[in-house]
Amino acid sequence: TIGKIFDLSVKRFPNKEAVYDVRKNIRFTYKEWSEQVNRLANALLQEGVKKGDRVSTFLFNTEELATTFFACAKIGAAFNPINFRLTSEEVSFILADASPKVVLFEKALEQVVSAIENRFPAISFWYIDEEAPTYAKSYHEKISSSSSEEVKAEVNENDLYAVMYTSGTTGRPKGVMHCHRNMVDQSLMVIGTSKLEATDVGLVTAPMFHCAELHCATLPRVHVGARNVILHQFHPKKVLQLIEQEKITKFFAAPTMWNMLLQEDLSQYDISSLKLGLYGAAPMAPSLVRACHDRLRISLVQAYGMTEMGPAITFLSEYDQLRKAGSAGQACLNHDIRIVRTREDGPSEPDDVVPAGETGEIIVQGSCMMTGYFNREEATERAMYKGWYHSGDIGYLDEEGYLWVNDRVDDMIISGGENIYPREVEDVLHSHQGVLDVAVVGEPDDRWGETVTAFVVKKDQNISEQELDEFCKNSNQLANFKRPRKYVFCEALPRNASGKIQKFILRKQLEDILSQGR
Ligand code: AMP
Ligand code: MG
Repeated sequence: TIGKIFDLSVKRFPNKEAVYDVRKNIRFTYKEWSEQVNRLANALLQEGVKKGDRVSTFLFNTEELATTFFACAKIGAAFNPINFRLTSEEVSFILADASPKVVLFEKALEQVVSAIENRFPAISFWYIDEEAPTYAKSYHEKISSSSSEEVKAEVNENDLYAVMYTSGTTGRPKGVMHCHRNMVDQSLMVIGTSKLEATDVGLVTAPMFHCAELHCATLPRVHVGARNVILHQFHPKKVLQLIEQEKITKFFAAPTMWNMLLQEDLSQYDISSLKLGLYGAAPMAPSLVRACHDRLRISLVQAYGMTEMGPAITFLSEYDQLRKAGSAGQACLNHDIRIVRTREDGPSEPDDVVPAGETGEIIVQGSCMMTGYFNREEATERAMYKGWYHSGDIGYLDEEGYLWVNDRVDDMIISGGENIYPREVEDVLHSHQGVLDVAVVGEPDDRWGETVTAFVVKKDQNISEQELDEFCKNSNQLANFKRPRKYVFCEALPRNASGKIQKFILRKQLEDILSQGR
């Protein structure tokens, strides 16, 4: 169980620093942290939290979030980390769905909570900062009046460990249920691939509520007894300062964060301690991978996956970064991946496998598969049809068995009957010097069904539509029908907290632009 692997690290490294929370300037050794975890676990038991009950966090990256994660694990409560970017109504939806006993929140998110707290009289709200609002209890009072004695609870490896709501680029979020064993396996996989050791120092800067940071970085580090530096929110200059100051060796960041780091003046910082960067959660253009490799001088590992699988299902190892740039890599240990023909009228058949090089839906089996969606039997059955998780992602396996992820089924553009994967077009435009960020969507068209439109954030203000079109033409990588017919220049692209571009927002913007033009 997750509680057990935490205790074993405490036993091995009692006096080693475990966490440093930059915001509150708090440092805990493993032993001190364990006492804190026990205090919270006992306080939750006092509050009446029972095995299987949900405990939610609505927090940025904080020591308290990590402490809650392990405290829940120890008493068998289901940890429910909520995305800090959500609005009151979105949070309200999750609270109604998950019906937690306790919700921990912080000052920076107080307005969101105060707008809806009166709808949930059965929930106990705990506030982690100074001066709790009247409807909330003080987390620190709870902790300081609680015992640091080891809790006695019977938790087994197949017990529910968490309910995590998917970031959902479309539709209502669903609660993904994972058990303890799944995440211990996920953690072991990551430890192997990123060669984590107790001497490593990790920076937590990607959102901890998301499984990429939580299960592919934070948990494996605690598992091996490494040190965690927790940064409240991503900020490129702070990240670089902390790498220098705390001698960070490895960390995870989403592609958009790596892009922002590269815009900084790197000569101002000593980042020589940094050995390895993990990236994933969204596609990263090969040109950006190369830039990280060359300018940061670090090894890189890519993880591809989804909350439902814990998340990682493939890794692109450090040795393959340049040779296989653009690929998502090979299936993780204990994982089996297939590409199958998609169907209009139901889930793809797991046995309808397409030959190497042909695209289809990515389906997967493995030891970290969710146990199902919380309260959603039908959706669970569809997603886990015949024992395979159906990802809704389109891709292919090459002759060497490496996975190439094209796009979401829903984002594919069909123009004149030809399939266009936005990512191919995005990767070409990303390699233009003057382009900072780009997203490609389909625009409804009477003649072709859809045509390609590119939303571009400029790095160089002087670039024009004509120049980008010439660039695409000269790249020799895009057939005529794949070239954007229209460019929309914008200040920033809408992204969710895990760094995924929200294309439904762009399609809506495009609709608005078109209807204004009529
Ligand atoms: P989530 O809802 O956060 O679990 O997102 C899962 C989705 O993110 C996947 O189905 C993919 O569409 C996308 N994704 C995750 N990792 C990668 C990656 N390394 N490359 C491309 N897309 C990714
Ligand atoms: Mg998802």
